[in-house]
Amino acid sequence: MSKTIIVSNRLPVEFKISGNRIQSTPSVGGLATGLKSVHATGESLWIGWPGLTSEQIGDFDVALNRTASESRMANVFLKQAEVRDFYFGFSNKSLWPLFHYFLEYTLYDPKQWDAYYRVNQKYAECVLAHAEEGDRIWIHDYQLMLVPSMIREKRPDVSIGFFLHIPFPAFEIFRTCPWRDELLSGLLGADLIGFHTYDYVQHFLNSVKRIKGFSVKFNEVDANGRTVKVDSFPMGVDFNKFHFSAAKYEVTGQQFQSDLVNRLQDHLKQYPDSRLILSIDRLDYTKGIPNRIRAFQYFLERHPEYIGKVRLVMLAVPSREDVPQYRKLKRETDELVGRVNGKFATIDWTPIWYFYRSLPYEDLVALYTTSHIAMITPLRDGMNLVAKEYVATRIERDGVLILSEMAGAANELSQALLINPENMNQISETLDQALRMPLEEQRHRMEAMQKRLSRYTIEKWANDFVTSLEKTVRNTPNPA
Ligand code: UDP
Repeated sequence: MSKTIIVSNRLPVEFKISGNRIQSTPSVGGLATGLKSVHATGESLWIGWPGLTSEQIGDFDVALNRTASESRMANVFLKQAEVRDFYFGFSNKSLWPLFHYFLEYTLYDPKQWDAYYRVNQKYAECVLAHAEEGDRIWIHDYQLMLVPSMIREKRPDVSIGFFLHIPFPAFEIFRTCPWRDELLSGLLGADLIGFHTYDYVQHFLNSVKRIKGFSVKFNEVDANGRTVKVDSFPMGVDFNKFHFSAAKYEVTGQQFQSDLVNRLQDHLKQYPDSRLILSIDRLDYTKGIPNRIRAFQYFLERHPEYIGKVRLVMLAVPSREDVPQYRKLKRETDELVGRVNGKFATIDWTPIWYFYRSLPYEDLVALYTTSHIAMITPLRDGMNLVAKEYVATRIERDGVLILSEMAGAANELSQALLINPENMNQISETLDQALRMPLEEQRHRMEAMQKRLSRYTIEKWANDFVTSLEKTVRNTPNPA
């Protein structure tokens, strides 16, 4: 019986070695949740890096392989230098900024490209060691763009799908990459390539036409006689999980693990008219955090009537601290928050409550449900799940989502208040509009967004992709 092999940079668990024992805890991220339905069928294997370097693992490799295989997983072991050059290097210093249109942050180092190539080969070899006739292989994200063709070369009989979780940039941006040809060839080893939005599909097809010279009909590429299908699959969230968690907290009124949420709830009890504006992201330069703080300052200057009445609750989740740009962004954010708070704070009011940390799931849901407005303003974002999660938790159907039109999610959430993250005046006026929005209008908008998100869940996303991969291979059998 054939199986599905899922391949992603990281395995969906966190391993810890303490004393002579290995502990593993499942990770809670969207991808892990989404693929659970695929992985839970029993006929699957998940291949990825266990999150510890070979140096950290030492003699525990055999035990770690045993632990992984008990949950139908297989480890790709990476040395510290490989993590540095492949992950922090080419993946996050070249591909991540380039694909998010940050050309000025994009660095190219041939040594890092070599590491990217070699590590992709390691993943491909691990897949090849486990692939059997008729298996479906589903590869994820920008760290593994060469893996499809590396598998295809050796195993023409298996079906291969690839999904990119970040934007695919316009041709004029992508063409600047010295290894553009190799990246496209890598991807075109797949039978089906998926993106979050129609625009990313078009950008990719454009690059394929112009760089590879391949002909494209509708959404099919003729790659030297092999047909490769390209389509959009907007990733959703586990709607019911978020919705029912929110409902449960409402009833139990439980205390939360983090002071932050307890403090917010106490604050609202004391000042029921106070309005909380939520901002949540990894501290990443693509998320537009400094712009958002500047726009909030501009808003307070233009609308002094809100001084003392609104608060920006900003959760910045630590991310990729080994990359210099992220450390710089942390300093810039700290300074900007300090400046706004210094300028506007009064004895009993601080305009920005800023937290540099992550939250456990329950607290995150409570933060969503406590906030009257979510202001999510990335400069570029493949999808943005936070926006969808906020909507899913609004059980009373109140609340307003302000969302950047540069987020993939904006294509589906047209009832959000969409803004251009570079337009401070627009953000400021939209905040005013959100704060004044009648309850009826809030409900009307929320209802429409919830309807969509409850249909296009993360589980549906995963099933749609796998079904489409099966159909593609059935309808366009490629020469072996
Ligand atoms: N998240 C989390 N803990 C936190 C803050 C966020 O687990 O303290 C999760 C959040 O629920 C969401 C994910 O992190 O599923 C962020 O995904 P998104 O697509 O918004 O952005 P990304 O970080 O993938 O660029």
